[in-house]
Amino acid sequence: MALDRVYNFSAGPAVLPEEVLKEAADEMLNYRGCGMSVMEMSHRSSDFQQIIDEAERDLRDLLGIPEKYKVLFLQGGASQQFAMIPMNLMKNRVADYIVTGNWAKKAAEEASLYGEVNVIASSKDKNYSYIPDLSDLPITENADYVYICQNNTIYGTTIKTLPNCKGKDLVADVSSMFLSEPMDVNKYGIVYGGVQKNIGPAGVVISIIREDLITEDVLPGTPTMLRFKTHADSGSMYNTPPCYGIYICGKVFKWLKSIGGLEAMKERNIKKASILYDYLDSSKLFHGTVSKKDRSLMNVTFITGNKELDARFVSESSKAGFKNLKGHRTVGGMRASIYNAMPLQGVADLVEFMKKFEEENT
Ligand SMILES: *Cc1c(COP(=O)(O)O)cnc(C)c1O
Repeated sequence: MALDRVYNFSAGPAVLPEEVLKEAADEMLNYRGCGMSVMEMSHRSSDFQQIIDEAERDLRDLLGIPEKYKVLFLQGGASQQFAMIPMNLMKNRVADYIVTGNWAKKAAEEASLYGEVNVIASSKDKNYSYIPDLSDLPITENADYVYICQNNTIYGTTIKTLPNCKGKDLVADVSSMFLSEPMDVNKYGIVYGGVQKNIGPAGVVISIIREDLITEDVLPGTPTMLRFKTHADSGSMYNTPPCYGIYICGKVFKWLKSIGGLEAMKERNIKKASILYDYLDSSKLFHGTVSKKDRSLMNVTFITGNKELDARFVSESSKAGFKNLKGHRTVGGMRASIYNAMPLQGVADLVEFMKKFEEENT
């Protein structure tokens, strides 16, 4: 790690691979001999066309995205999709939502502006600290889709077994686990994620959509910019796309390929998360806050059980160079977001620091 860098455990915007940042820095003033930055370049130029084409190709390679899915690079972050999805998919104006955290809850609330939203499963009863059984849910007969947030960034849980949607299309927000492990895109109608958690700069959102879900039959009044078809028909360049953000995403895709793709990434992520979870399970001071079987590989939530001690830990860890460990206000305690770009050493060093803190405070 460069000497002046910290270990950044932020939930998002979050740590990016240092190799990517260095490469972007090298190309900042003069992108590959063209004499300008990617930020200054026309999105209609052949240089940029190559950047976006290559980004899409690499993403398709990484995830093994089937031909019948479109890849859209959109704007407005993940939150924009909370409206865009019902506007484009709610033909019957009915959708089923599985609410396992704040982001799913927000998505459900937004969708209810456009139609009937049935919350068919929820873990709100225990402050979203677990994933309910999703194997036999009361799927609504005329539901247009079933919605999940697959990794709950705030609470630190992951849906590891996809819901049985009984033939309905599954729509998944994977923002905080995007490209952290392989996934079978065929199981989804739409997989989307804001890139600021694991892939790139905030604002860009990538949506992978099965082609038959991209139609002209959208809710009346749907703005042109919020129609999937507008972006699908124009190769994500109906208007000026977030060029620089897409360029950084492209570099992260190359970085992932260079380390061996998503299988290798998953192995690294399991190793990394185990270091922290194993310690939490053996510690007398720190405790994980969620059901063990549902633990996220990306967002690790923990507490001491004493608010003052939590606050002291957050403050002392920050002074020691472990930044942004404060938990979300709805959970309290601590959260270590250990996305793809967090090196294993960062987690090992954090655990050493926690051990020392435990010795000093018990
Ligand atoms: C961060 C996050 C969002 C919101 O992303 P924005 O880019 O800020 O809109 C949505 N869903 C999940 C799962 C997130 O982690």
